[in-house]
Amino acid sequence: MMKFILKFLQRQPTCPNCDQKLPTKPIRKQACPHCGKFIFARNGALVTHDEAMIIDWLARLEIFGIARKDFDIYMSELSKQFGSQASVTDTLWRILNQLVRRSARDAHMLEQVYREMAGLASSEGRDPTAFLIEAERIRGRRLNISATSPERIALGDDELKYVRQLRKNGNLEKAEELLLKAYPSPAVLDELRKIASARAKIARKNKDWQAVVQHLEGYTDYATQWWDYCLQTVNQEPPLHTESDLKLLREARARLAGSVDT
Ligand SMILES: [Zn+2]
Repeated sequence: MMKFILKFLQRQPTCPNCDQKLPTKPIRKQACPHCGKFIFARNGALVTHDEAMIIDWLARLEIFGIARKDFDIYMSELSKQFGSQASVTDTLWRILNQLVRRSARDAHMLEQVYREMAGLASSEGRDPTAFLIEAERIRGRRLNISATSPERIALGDDELKYVRQLRKNGNLEKAEELLLKAYPSPAVLDELRKIASARAKIARKNKDWQAVVQHLEGYTDYATQWWDYCLQTVNQEPPLHTESDLKLLREARARLAGSVDT
């Protein structure tokens, strides 16, 4: 009996995508050596990308009273309507849209639903701004701050991930546009710092020393402007330029001084 239990416990792990045996049990996201698809670990079990996404989102939707059985019902209803298997994202959008209707009388809930919509849009690589503005509007009305357009929006982890992806894809303008609309938390400022750094490097390649100084000093000015805000809100100073960016700034200033002399 004991032997049997041990054998059961030591059962070789299999890929949740292709069902083939794995040499070791992955403890985090890993590609399957057989099918190449990603394997995720959640609560000690190996699951597919879709299943991991469902588990992660159900944890977020729990406060709205959405459980696994609700998700499954929404998914099968949507699949029937589509005439083909609905995706996890389609199902999540359907649920969030239903929650907007259901939360119409509860401003606090409604604000949270819009923030989750921003998170879902961001995770799909789509601009979350409209949802974030709506969330701030509702918050403003709820707290009697303002009834019109909000001054700034709050970026969460999903939105920051989206911005990071924009920057990595070289879409610096769009990333910056969103960051400048956001509350200048240290995380937001750090992204702006990286954009300034990327722009300074491009300017150096073009030997545009004036632009190098402008980009790097531009960030310093913005960070200085929000220094007290960061200390007051999260008791953390805004991130500073890296050593290599400071070196580049000194070089650019020296070059400019040199060109003035000649
Ligand atoms: Zn596999």
